[in-house]
Amino acid sequence: MSEVQSGQPPAPVVRGEPREVAPDVWIIPDGRVPLVPNIGVIVGESAALVVDTGMGPRNGAHVRRVAEELAGERRLFVTLTHFHPEHGYGAQAFADGATIVYNRDQLLELRDKGKPYLEMFGTFGDSVADQLDGTTLVDPDVVYDGAVDLNLGDRTAWLRTWGLAHTRGDQVVFLPEERVLFTGDLVERDMFAIFPFFPPDDADVDGDRWIAVLEQLERLEPSVVVPGHGEVGDAGLLATAREYLQKLRALTLLEIEAGATVDDAAAAIEREFLALHPDWAQPEWIGFGVRCYYAKLA
Ligand SMILES: [Zn+2]
Repeated sequence: MSEVQSGQPPAPVVRGEPREVAPDVWIIPDGRVPLVPNIGVIVGESAALVVDTGMGPRNGAHVRRVAEELAGERRLFVTLTHFHPEHGYGAQAFADGATIVYNRDQLLELRDKGKPYLEMFGTFGDSVADQLDGTTLVDPDVVYDGAVDLNLGDRTAWLRTWGLAHTRGDQVVFLPEERVLFTGDLVERDMFAIFPFFPPDDADVDGDRWIAVLEQLERLEPSVVVPGHGEVGDAGLLATAREYLQKLRALTLLEIEAGATVDDAAAAIEREFLALHPDWAQPEWIGFGVRCYYAKLA
């Protein structure tokens, strides 16, 4: 019996075949497997950049093997879209020989929350705990503030952060010539935006700043957008993500003005979005999003 037939979600294992989304710009697609992100491998003339590692040492080692097959003898850089375990907890597989680059907010957030998130994710079932087994959190070799341009030889990758949005240190990677943008969880496809709003333990998510960051990304005018999860698309993914957040905010404000409690607001808005997007995954995040805006706007 397959894992799907047994009713369990598939194990969070990176196993997609690399796919070229622009010349020498590869992704390992998530295959819509929960807790597997889209992973990028950008190959330049002298160096290659890996964007996200998957979760745990074995996924990280697999991603490194794929990256080395694509990059040959080139120097390897690794960076993360943000600190969340499924995006970055495979970085240890790159500690030997690759250059790991984080922005400062991301590093500080990893130091604050890395272990608590490891423990929390360890409670998400055996298949998740198995992948996290043996995880160690590694510090980067290079830390930057705000922006850095990584020279890969014949091409440059822009690493950019605008600080707090989906997490404290979200980072995008943009290739200005090919106009390819890796967004991490700032953008998903056919999936409700993930609001990791768990006060008092973690409330480092800001819906208003998130909308502003998406507006910045739209100004980059990408032609290819690689979301954190889901199929690759174009700039329309940015607009869809922004419009969802704007609507979530507006509906929450209406509920507050009508005197609704946060629980009632969350229930009503969840019903509305389920009707609007019956095919989107992970509707449980709608309520967390409402609670996040409610806390800010009430
Ligand atoms: Zn995330």
